[in-house]
Amino acid sequence: MKKIIFATSNEGKMKEIRLIMQDSGYEVVSLKEAGISVDIVEDGTTFEENAVIKASAIAKLTGELAMADDSGLEVDYMDKAPGIYSARFLGEDTDYTIKNTYILDKLKDVPREKRTARFVCAIALAKPDGTAITRRETIEGYIGYEIRGENGFGYDPIFMVPEFEKTTAELTIEEKNKISHRAKALRAMKEELTANA
Ligand code: IMP
Repeated sequence: MKKIIFATSNEGKMKEIRLIMQDSGYEVVSLKEAGISVDIVEDGTTFEENAVIKASAIAKLTGELAMADDSGLEVDYMDKAPGIYSARFLGEDTDYTIKNTYILDKLKDVPREKRTARFVCAIALAKPDGTAITRRETIEGYIGYEIRGENGFGYDPIFMVPEFEKTTAELTIEEKNKISHRAKALRAMKEELTANA
């Protein structure tokens, strides 16, 4: 079976990726499983650029196909911040309760129609020859009025999905994986891979 190295060391992400890619005809392995330990500087200015930087670095290093994702939250009222800086927003090690409370405070008294936000995910597939393709998907929603839910991670407790009137932290993993930015981008990339296999 053909192999793809996914440039992440996040096991939670790998589980989701394997599930979606299981019938793709490709074996997807993590950096750890491939025995790679590298520090890649994500200095792109878009989600796509960052995903390509990560995937291309691994493809060049290993001579194998490589995939990477880059994701984040865009809050329209905050000029699409934190965006590509979502992980680093208010400091990489800052607790998400603090980050989420900060955003809720920024949007205090802001009406529902101006609270629109989205999670964005760009996935890149890179070949060792230096070429790469990307796919971007989003999930549209709005910033809620309080921290709600125990599931998920990051900004999930303040991100409301209108279809459910729940935050993504109140959805089960299965429910979130059906509609999430990352799952949709992965499925789009899988279609591309199987169409050109
Ligand atoms: P990365 O793609 O792993 O670099 O993730 C960037 C950051 O975006 C994460 O650390 C979270 O802060 C945020 N983020 C991305 N996807 C999600 C999500 O599904 N839920 C909550 N936060 C997310």
